[in-house]
Amino acid sequence: METKLGEPRAYISGPISGMPMGNVAAFSFCADVLDTIFGWDSINPHNIRPFEHPGQDCPPGPNSPDTSSHNSPCHLKADIEALVQADCIVMLRGWEHSAGARLELSVAAACALPVWFFNNETAELHSADGSFSSKDF
Ligand SMILES: [Zn+2]
Repeated sequence: METKLGEPRAYISGPISGMPMGNVAAFSFCADVLDTIFGWDSINPHNIRPFEHPGQDCPPGPNSPDTSSHNSPCHLKADIEALVQADCIVMLRGWEHSAGARLELSVAAACALPVWFFNNETAELHSADGSFSSKDF
C-alpha cells in the first residue's frame, strides 16, 4: 500500500471476537469507504500480521478468536503497534462490547489521536460528541 503525504492513516477498531467471520465485512466496508470516499489510508487489523516471536510458543494469554495459529496477545501487540503509528482511530459499531476495541480506544485517547465513530448504514463519520460529521468535511 502506498501512502501519500498528508493522507490520514486511520486505524479501524471494532468487535472481532464472537462476531460472524470475525466481523470482516464491517471492517472491509469501513476501509473501502475511508479509502475511496475520504481518500484516507486505512489500517485494517484483519490485515496486520501477528507480532513476531521466536519459536512456535505464543506468550501466555487467551486464544485468538479466529483460525490464527497465534493467540490474542500476539495479535494485540501488533495491533497496538500499528495503532500508535496511525493518525486517528475509527470505531465500528459494537466497539463498546469488545474488550480489545475498548482498550484500543483508551490507547488512542491517551496518545491524543482523534477519535471517529463510523456509521455503517450511512457511511458517515462522527466525532465523539457529535459536533463534527463527515458532512462537514
Ligand atoms: Zn504467537
